[in-house]
Amino acid sequence: MRRSLVWRIAVPFIGLILLSVGGVSLYFTNYTQQGYTENLHDSLKTSGNLLAVDIANRILRGASYDDLAPVIQSYADLTQTRITFIRSDGVVVADSVADPKTMQNHLDRPEVKAALSGPEGAEIRFSDTLKRRFYYLALPVLSTGQTIGVIRLARDLTIIEGELRNLRARILGVGATITLLSVLLAYLVAQGTLRPLRKLASKVQHLKEGDPNVDLPSGRKDEIGVLSRSFEQVARQLSTQMADFQEERGKLEAVLRHMTDAVLIVDKDGKVTLANPAAERLFHLTLDQSLGRSLVEVVRQHQFVELWRASRDSRKQQISTLETSPERNFVQGTATPLESSLPGSTLLVFQNLTRIHRLETVRRDFVSNVSHELRTPLASLKALTETLQEGALEDPPAARRFLKRMEDEIDNLTQMVRELLDLSRIESGRVPFDRLSVNPMMMMGNAVERMRLQAERGGLNIQVDASQSLPEVMADADRIEAVLVNLLHNAIKFTPPGGQIVVSARQDGDKVVFSVRDTGIGIKPEDLSRIFERFYKADQSRSGGGTGLGLSIARHTIEAHQGSIWAESHPGQGSTFYFTLPVA
Ligand code: ADP
Repeated sequence: MRRSLVWRIAVPFIGLILLSVGGVSLYFTNYTQQGYTENLHDSLKTSGNLLAVDIANRILRGASYDDLAPVIQSYADLTQTRITFIRSDGVVVADSVADPKTMQNHLDRPEVKAALSGPEGAEIRFSDTLKRRFYYLALPVLSTGQTIGVIRLARDLTIIEGELRNLRARILGVGATITLLSVLLAYLVAQGTLRPLRKLASKVQHLKEGDPNVDLPSGRKDEIGVLSRSFEQVARQLSTQMADFQEERGKLEAVLRHMTDAVLIVDKDGKVTLANPAAERLFHLTLDQSLGRSLVEVVRQHQFVELWRASRDSRKQQISTLETSPERNFVQGTATPLESSLPGSTLLVFQNLTRIHRLETVRRDFVSNVSHELRTPLASLKALTETLQEGALEDPPAARRFLKRMEDEIDNLTQMVRELLDLSRIESGRVPFDRLSVNPMMMMGNAVERMRLQAERGGLNIQVDASQSLPEVMADADRIEAVLVNLLHNAIKFTPPGGQIVVSARQDGDKVVFSVRDTGIGIKPEDLSRIFERFYKADQSRSGGGTGLGLSIARHTIEAHQGSIWAESHPGQGSTFYFTLPVA
């Protein structure tokens, strides 16, 4: 590339120089040759004319052809020329070099022919007689207006041609030197012109490699300077634009990476061109698996593919919600055509509404459960008051019974309202937990003692099974005791007489795992995952009048202590409830 530029500049110069030097040499040698020939012609003509007049006069005075030979010879010697006198019939009469008798008839010689019919005849020819090239000039000899013969003068061209060759060689030598010097000059000029360009190119290379602070020859006043300044400007603009671009890109990446909604960009053919981490999580894919693949492969939900298609075809935003399978997530998809920024592409945003949906369901269930739970005792109270009003008041023993039942219902209602209040306060974090370092044995002992009478009444054996060396835990002792009482209460409630209840605790790393095990009716697997929900009762008929709030309160209490609570059960054999508390 570099060489070619040098040569591209130098070669036309060299061509031009060669052409002009060659042309000048050719013209000059031709011109000189022509000059020589003309000079020769003129000098031969002058001598020839003089001789022709002399011969004509001599013949007129009666001189014979033999008398003419010495005259011709002396002219020839004088002018260093071969002179031949030819009669008008072509017979050679005298010749300064050869014997005329040996010479052929010259009528066929072109110069002789021309001189016989015109003012002169000239010819350059190889002489058969002398075996050299000659310049022949033939002039008519006129006597009393008649051509009586032809004087032919011949000059050997060998010397002239030798001189011409010499001259040509000298011109060529000078031409070649000029050419060589010019080639060198052209090459140097080309190199000199290209050197700053090369320097500029290598600096621009640095620019390309990301170094915007290169020292370009921008101080120059010529075109290179203009080019350098333009480059510097472009480089500065580029680096600012790159910085802006990187910043914008960084912001966009941060938003995309940290947003909880899944984002996909799909091109007009349905290929995914962008996917954020939330999309990968929602559709269980990695980036490599999603980019460049078709939307249907990525989302695997026909309805979302339809949503994209509808938005692409209508060029309008489309929204649809569906429950994914098998995860059963509630996802709302919004498809927006990216008309101006990315023509043909569509932005798909997916919001996982599962939590909100679940909360909504829980709220709805809660309201219906509260109403249901309130309705039963209220209906019972209503019936009891009506019965009293309708005459039972007149029957004091019956009235007392009714009043006792009314009191029980009111106690139930009060208990439920208290538990609901408790739950709501714990849930909203309004209950201040007094967490201190406490001995697990103390809490378990207190709870068991509180429930022992009730257990014994139910014909159940209750005991604590834990080592005295357990570490202390961080807990609000009253609240944890309430949880243990609640678990024991359930165990007693759901264990037939003769059963056994064991409360135990063991250390597991930085926490203590508590458990309440019974040999009761157990919990079916489908209920096990739901018993910690508010108002959930596994078996309504056998719930023993509970509110279904106890385990829910227990879960919130334990979670507020940074612990966890769960249950294991074998229906018909018994259940074990576990919860953990952090070691103090
Ligand atoms: P409640 O006992 O007031 O009904 P809970 O929230 O304490 O409410 O318990 C929820 C449900 O869990 C109970 O109705 C019962 O069906 C089930 N359950 C709890 N503890 C046990 C247990 N030890 N054995 C069998 N089922 C239990």
